[in-house]
Amino acid sequence: MIYLKTEEEINLIKVSAQVLGKAHAEVAQWVKPGVATKKLDTIAEQYIRDNGGIPSFKGFNNFPASLCISVNEVVVHGFPSNYILKDGDIVSIDCGVKLNGFHSDSAYTYPIGEVSKEVMDLLTATKRSLYKGIEQAFDGQRMGDLSFAVQNYVEERGYTVVRELVGHGVGRDLHEGPEVPNYGKRGKGIRLKEGMVIAIEPMINLGTKSVMQERDGWTIRTSDRKYSAHFEHTVVVRKGKAEILTTFDYIEKVTANTSLMVEA
Ligand code: MG
Ligand code: MG
Repeated sequence: MIYLKTEEEINLIKVSAQVLGKAHAEVAQWVKPGVATKKLDTIAEQYIRDNGGIPSFKGFNNFPASLCISVNEVVVHGFPSNYILKDGDIVSIDCGVKLNGFHSDSAYTYPIGEVSKEVMDLLTATKRSLYKGIEQAFDGQRMGDLSFAVQNYVEERGYTVVRELVGHGVGRDLHEGPEVPNYGKRGKGIRLKEGMVIAIEPMINLGTKSVMQERDGWTIRTSDRKYSAHFEHTVVVRKGKAEILTTFDYIEKVTANTSLMVEA
């Protein structure tokens, strides 16, 4: 189901998104070589609960943690673990917060220490493709306009778009309609309407678009084990221009002038 949100509901999502943005920033301070990914999960859960929220992911379809932490060739849905981050890794941190009955959802991929230019360019392109999608998320557009904008931007640069996983509506449920694919055709798909709240989340690969699921039933990785990046915002469709409800501002206060920085 697609639920159009009232202004009051959108304001509740914004409150949730503020806690989410700050939880991401708390985590960002620990994103460095030598840190186990499960440490990051502890930091996020603590911050979210201390601020009156509930981690949206924990227990969602039995997901075991507050963060999806996806390193290198893992596209999304990685489990926090004893894995120790090391120089040259990239790590996608995906987080959701439920507060006052409403979810917010966002993701950011960080380079750890020195990564190759090839990998840094993948991160920048993936982040930019998110904003290319957001630019199309206004009232009256078709979903395909948004999807095409993401796909076209990254494919022009030689990257590939994961097909099996897509963005989604966000609201009282973490995943609502509509689906928000990162590939598609201009002029096709549902018409976007003011008040639709959607998570746009390009998952972009260096090599093949093909992905596989690990035996844990969650972890999605690239079939060729080349790196994959992921950025996500929750936005509301408005007349003329989407409004971004989640924020990277707190993250980027932490990452400014460090090796964690990803340009957009
Ligand atoms: Mg997410
Ligand atoms: Mg999402």
